[in-house]
Amino acid sequence: MKAMNKLATYQMTALDQPFELVTRDLPTPGTDEALIEVAGCGICHTDISFWHHGVPVRHELPLTLGHEISGTVVAGPPDLVGQSVIVPAVLACGDCALCTTGRSNICRRQKMPGNDFHGGFASHVLAPARYLATVNAAALKNHSLAELAVIADAVSTPYQVVQKSGLRADDFAIIIGVGGIGTYACQIAQSIGAKVLALDIAEERLEALNQVGITETLNIAKLDIRTAKGQVKERCKALGAAPHSWQIYETSGTKAGQELAFALLGYAATLSIVGFTMDKLELRLSNLMAFDGKVIGTWGCRPELYPEVIQLVAEGKVQIKPFVETFPMSRINEVFADTLHHKFTKRSILLPDFN
Ligand SMILES: [Zn+2]
Ligand SMILES: [Zn+2]
Repeated sequence: MKAMNKLATYQMTALDQPFELVTRDLPTPGTDEALIEVAGCGICHTDISFWHHGVPVRHELPLTLGHEISGTVVAGPPDLVGQSVIVPAVLACGDCALCTTGRSNICRRQKMPGNDFHGGFASHVLAPARYLATVNAAALKNHSLAELAVIADAVSTPYQVVQKSGLRADDFAIIIGVGGIGTYACQIAQSIGAKVLALDIAEERLEALNQVGITETLNIAKLDIRTAKGQVKERCKALGAAPHSWQIYETSGTKAGQELAFALLGYAATLSIVGFTMDKLELRLSNLMAFDGKVIGTWGCRPELYPEVIQLVAEGKVQIKPFVETFPMSRINEVFADTLHHKFTKRSILLPDFN
């Protein structure tokens, strides 16, 4: 049994060091805050970057990481207490010029769990209440609340970019890299009625997509850019999609993926950059002029869009279960190390198992 009024957590104390189990008194929510009992917290590559690669967190150490959180509100605004919720990874202020003009995902006063304040690798999280997204019973029909934790980043981020890119039914949507983000980008594009082609260098990731009805895949592991481009064109033709106005989503966050993505950008195409790498590319930007093309970036997801994302899951248009694996939170050190060493093909979700 969980201690009644204690918060237990695994904290990051220093770069690359094991997470430390700490117990403290349960915090009392202030105005506009909610205390959430964590159901599950996903491990994102950003957590690995904080823990291992030295990307600085904004809160001083020790800090509890984790920004893909689902749980049940146990204290705070009365209308939220008892509700199942997702904690958005981007918690905007809601009032600034960016927030009030539809760009809340890039709000400069935004707070991110496990970066600005203690995150989800814990029994409880104290978070701003304003944008907590309630989960309806339909969304819990095929998924546990813990599995829905990945909505907070892995599912909502591609949702936002697909919206931003203006993807329409029958468009040819090319997703480069079907890892944690790309698998959902494929499903979201499919839900709109686009003709989806998934590209990756790992056959097992491409095969996993069959479970959710994504059957057009291309393994680009051994293909140079010119050959890959030729094969993508053939697939486009076979699918009966237009040879122009392609919607390209770069979700691999690799130099090779970005090079291919830019090479695929043709007439009236839109390239969305979703993955992140520090690597630089040499590009002929004038292709954008010649092809009347567009390149867009995206950061996280506007918290206002979460109900739409949850609805897609409730309707079964986005499936999470085939792409996640759960572990007891007490195995956090082992699971982080294995994530770092690319031992998982599925996204890991840690479930609190504190005594
Ligand atoms: Zn993340
Ligand atoms: Zn704001």
